[in-house]
Amino acid sequence: MNADVLARLKDAAGPKGFSVDPAEIAPHLEEWRGTWHGHTPLLLKPATTADVSRILSICNETATPIVPQGGNTGLVGGQIPLGGEILLSLARMSRVRRVDKAGANMIVEAGVTLAGAQVAASDAEMYFPLSIASEGSATIGGNLSTNAGGVHVLRYGMARDLVLGLEVVLADGRVLDMLRTLRKDNTGYDLKNLFIGAEGTLGIITAAALKLFPQPAEYATALVAVPDPRAAVDLLAQLQSATGGLLSAYELIARSGLELVLAHIPGAGDPLQAPSPWYVLAEAGGAARFALRQVLEDALAAAMEAGLASDAVVASSEAQRASLWRLRENLSEAQKKEGASLKHDIAVPVAAIPDFVARAIPAVLTAVPGARPVPFGHLGDGNLHFNFSLPKGGDGDAFLAKRAEVARVVHDVVHDFQGSMSAEHGIGVMKRDELLRYKSAAEIGVMRALKRLLDPNDILNPGKVLT
Ligand SMILES: Cc1cc2nc3c(=O)[nH]c(=O)nc-3n(C[C@H](O)[C@H](O)[C@H](O)COP(=O)(O)OP(=O)(O)OC[C@H]3O[C@@H](n4cnc5c(N)ncnc54)[C@H](O)[C@@H]3O)c2cc1C
Repeated sequence: MNADVLARLKDAAGPKGFSVDPAEIAPHLEEWRGTWHGHTPLLLKPATTADVSRILSICNETATPIVPQGGNTGLVGGQIPLGGEILLSLARMSRVRRVDKAGANMIVEAGVTLAGAQVAASDAEMYFPLSIASEGSATIGGNLSTNAGGVHVLRYGMARDLVLGLEVVLADGRVLDMLRTLRKDNTGYDLKNLFIGAEGTLGIITAAALKLFPQPAEYATALVAVPDPRAAVDLLAQLQSATGGLLSAYELIARSGLELVLAHIPGAGDPLQAPSPWYVLAEAGGAARFALRQVLEDALAAAMEAGLASDAVVASSEAQRASLWRLRENLSEAQKKEGASLKHDIAVPVAAIPDFVARAIPAVLTAVPGARPVPFGHLGDGNLHFNFSLPKGGDGDAFLAKRAEVARVVHDVVHDFQGSMSAEHGIGVMKRDELLRYKSAAEIGVMRALKRLLDPNDILNPGKVLT
């Protein structure tokens, strides 16, 4: 890369705003699963929106490609500079600019971690409901750029649904100040939504106005043994009706996944007497006077009588609630410890989940006999992590070599159910080809036109999402 351009970029970022130290840069070049490895001549670490604006205007003028990065927890390779681009870390933009309790919103900068945003809300006795396992490192900028989901989407929506306003720096350095906190604003095109879920290909998010909610005073949490996914879907409707729509999480877990947690996570125990092929972790939250625990117990007793559930445990303390959640939260870690796995982040309409599972598991087993299905995830949103572990005693590399073939099998079934082959994690580089296969030519055409309009020199995260 041109030395003069590098010098100008360093100057724009200021003395503390860049690094060429390989030891400092190295952790930014590897992603969590170790699948993608990047390289870069320069790590930029701007502290203000004005810094980002200066940096982008130089990049645009000199056609210098640049990759934005938040917490580097993305799972599709989007944040890694695979072609030796400049790397732009937003981590230093970590100010909570304002928390407005009366207006139920807060304005935070892109580099605030999700956990930090949650704390800023709870310090004001409010609640920011976005919650994902990587929240200690993942940032608000990354969350919005990937439109992150997580365990509370059922009640509060995806990251997109939690945004009131946005501040974005465009490819040419212009700042789009859309940091409004209005609940209603029908003044033409909703531009902020273009940048949410765009994975850094259309602009750099520098700050966001986020919605806040009242803190639930009490949670009712249950692990429920169900005979099959159909019963789990039927039970969802019953529990929503019984709680008046106060369910905030509804997670499906296959017995195979629970067994991996019991085998690999120290201290994990099966809270139910007898094994069940499937489980649901359900949680509702609300005011203490709603007596939600009693409501949940009554609804589960009725479900057992109707044959929708065979057993259940309702947490009677915060510690018990935490231990039920640990079973769910440790599924990825336990599967990692079991060895090689093939993962698919899919969504189909909620009611279609049982038929999808019934069709897709045999389809994969035909392609890879002996693969062990470990499906789990956000059933309440129709989103499953449709994962497979390697056959018992099988060769990990041989199993992983089937990645593309198995993904094609799974995604074709997803497509038949009018589903999505990327429910939460985005496209990045991992699913670019799949995007072209499953989106209509008209949709791809509009996406390409938007990219050309907003980033004519193709400097923003080139090669990600679209080729
Ligand atoms: C253990 C684990 C669990 C996870 N669980 C979930 C889950 O439940 N739900 C879920 O949705 N995801 C989950 N993820 C994926 C990941 O945490 C999310 O995608 C997260 O939102 C990424 O945030 P980040 O700050 O790490 O972004 P990064 O990984 O740094 O970047 C992600 C993408 O956003 C772009 N980007 C980053 N910051 C900006 C910015 N300021 N402006 C423009 N573009 C930007 C990057 O270029 C990249 O394309 C999980 C990941 C891990 C490792």
